[in-house]
Formats: sequence, structure tokens, C-alpha cells
Amino acid sequence: MRRDVVVLGSTGSIGTQALDLVRANPDRFRVVGLTAGGSNEELFERQVAEFAPAFNGLGEDASTEAAGMACDVVLNGITGAVGLRPTLAALDAGNTLALANKESLIMGGPLVTARARPGQIVPVDSEHSAVAQCLRGGTPEEVRRLVLTASGGPFRGRSREELAEVTVEQALQHPTWSMGPVITINSATLVNKGLEVIEAHLLFDLPFDRIEVVVHPTSVVHSMVEFTDGSTLLQASPPTMMIPIALGLAWPDRVPDAAPGVDWTKPETWEFFPLDDDAFPAVSLARRAGERGATAPAVYNAANEVSVEAFMTGRLRFIDIVPTVSHVLANHDVPLEEHLTIEDILAADTWAREEARLAIDAATNGETL
Ligand code: NDP
Ligand code: MG
Repeated sequence: MRRDVVVLGSTGSIGTQALDLVRANPDRFRVVGLTAGGSNEELFERQVAEFAPAFNGLGEDASTEAAGMACDVVLNGITGAVGLRPTLAALDAGNTLALANKESLIMGGPLVTARARPGQIVPVDSEHSAVAQCLRGGTPEEVRRLVLTASGGPFRGRSREELAEVTVEQALQHPTWSMGPVITINSATLVNKGLEVIEAHLLFDLPFDRIEVVVHPTSVVHSMVEFTDGSTLLQASPPTMMIPIALGLAWPDRVPDAAPGVDWTKPETWEFFPLDDDAFPAVSLARRAGERGATAPAVYNAANEVSVEAFMTGRLRFIDIVPTVSHVLANHDVPLEEHLTIEDILAADTWAREEARLAIDAATNGETL
């Protein structure tokens, strides 16, 4: 049966790959809604002309409207906190949510998961797609821990001192993935892996001490699940988002030939290393934010978004991104989780952005954090 698909963020890295998949599988998928941010209107207009969706529009409100349309699946491929309202709209409308926009889940936390029926959110993030696939191999009681793989980014192996003079161009050179700019910088700081630890906690309902991170430079193993008998299942493919996007749109089915598999006629070496927490403190900081819960993950995300923007425009050094996030978190009073509302989350997001801007201005004026 053909699935009606809404693609939010259609002009981005995830969005364009999703449309490639739809184009290659017209018997499986039909695009009924397209939205984007508006910075690439020419591409958006071409997409609208090609797919002729029932609804199209630019901006947050259009994305929220599209997410609530009657359809089979909404792919949220927007970058950043602005994806929150569309995520909630898709869930409230009862649509399956193929979630690339991890920020909305992390910000909203239990407020997002509580609005989703079991299985309504299908992860598109490759690590979480891998975990979801591996979890088919056992019962929830049989799961001992999740092991998320991290490429380590372009600066793997460098010490904290060696990261001091890193440029934007260098940080945008990801060794294994071609992605949008924000997630590429987040991969260089390892903030992306920090966000993914919180994402895994929310999606799979495991405590933080049962979610580990291991560095795997070639990104062929996308993540693993260890079961109680000591057995580990892993999911592997050459690095590609086509498989997780295809699973996101077709879950629980697989789309034949979504991407090429591993070529075993050539030598293939898989290496794994422990994460250097000293050079890359972003993951342990995310764990602490996740354990504090409530608005802390939203603050981690918002302070990071502002810091990444400041780094990309030359106002903040690469090595000051994570300390800025840490500083903002340290100043944040986390409210109790039980009476938390979406308005509290949005207020914390706004507060964290302002607090990060003040810290960045102070750093520009030579003050230390
Ligand atoms: P891109 O920067 O490539 O694309 C972002 C998309 O969001 C663009 O289409 C942009 O439109 C759109 N957008 C921005 N603001 C708005 C808005 N206010 N309303 C509607 N649309 C908006 O990012 P990616 O595709 O790389 O990433 C998207 C999400 O997927 C992120 O959350 C990322 O973390 C996640 N992800 C991405 C992976 C990847 O391989 N790229 C892998 C795993 C997760 P426009 O540019 O036209 O303004
Ligand atoms: Mg990922």
C-alpha cells in the first residue's frame, strides 16, 4: 500500500535524500506535504513542481500545519529547536513521526514521549535506527545496555590544547558523513553524541548508565545492543542515511535496495576506541543534563545552538562552545518535572539563548567563563 508522506525541511540534507527515496519508489510513497525554512526558495519551488503536494509552505507555522495533515507519516527533517511545534502537531494528529529532528524530542523530553503512542515515533537518526533494528532481536527485559557509535568527528585523537585554533572550515570537514552545517559542527564537538545519548534515553526508556558511547571512526557499525546473556547485536552498512530514512518512512518494512550493503570482497577493518572525555566533555555534560531532566536538556540544546552560530560567525572559538553550554547549564535552576509544561520548556529555551549570548559577549571582551 502506498504511503502518504509529509516532508518537513525538504531542502535540507535529510529532506533531499528522503525525496530521492520517494522518487525511486513511486509505488511505495507519495508526497502530500512539503515545507522548508525559505533560505533556498528556488530548490523548494522545483520540489513543489516535481511532487505536486496537496500542501506546501515555508516557515515554522507552515511546518506545524503540514505536520497535522491527514497522512501516514511525517518526516521531521528541520534543524534545531524550531522543530518542536511540528513534532507535537504530528503526534497530536496521530501521524507516525519519522524523527530526524532530535532537538524537538530532547527539548520536550517526557512531554513529547507522553504524547506519543507506543511506536508512533520512528527514529531516523542512524544510531537510533540501528538500535531499533537490533531491538527486534530480543525482549525489553533481555536488554542490558545500548552502545552508540561515534565517528569521533574531524578532530578525533586531538588533545584539548590541540583544539584551540580549529577553524570553521576544518570543523565542517566531517570524515564520514555529509550533513547540514549545525549537525556537522555538533559532530566535531561531540555535542551531537551528547544529544543522541539523551535521545536514546527518551526513545528506549533506559537509564543513562545503560547507554554507552564508543568511538568507531569509519561509521560502518551504526550502533549496538548488548543483551543479558552477553551477546551483542549490531547493525552495519557503509555510511548512508538512505537506510534509516527508508525505515523511517516504511517501518516496520524495509525498502529493497535503499542503499548498497557492505562489500565483503574488499578488506574491511572495524576499529573501536573509548571516548576521550577530557578533550570532548560534551557527552558527559549531556548525561548530567539528561539526569537533571525537566528543562536541562532544552537548555543544553539552546545554549549549544547559539554557541554554534557564534562559532560559525567567528565570535566564539571552537573550544569555547562546550564550556559556554556548561556555564549556561550551571546557572540554570531546573524546575520539578511533574508540573512541567511546553511553555516552561520554551521559556527555558529563550532564557538559555540569552544567557549564552551574554556569556559569548563576555568572552569576546576577554572575560573567562
Ligand atoms: P539541513 O541544515 O541540511 O536542513 C535543515 C532543513 O530545515 C532545511 O530544509 C531548512 O530549510 C529547514 N528549516 C530551517 N528552519 C525551518 C523552519 N523554521 N521551518 C521549516 N523548515 C525549516 O539539516 P540536516 O538535514 O542535516 O538535519 C536535519 C535534522 O536531522 C537535524 O535535526 C539533524 O540533527 C538531523 N539529522 C541529520 C542527519 C544528516 O545526515 N543530515 C543525520 C542524523 C540526524 P531552508 O534551508 O530551505 O531554509
Ligand atoms: Mg546520528
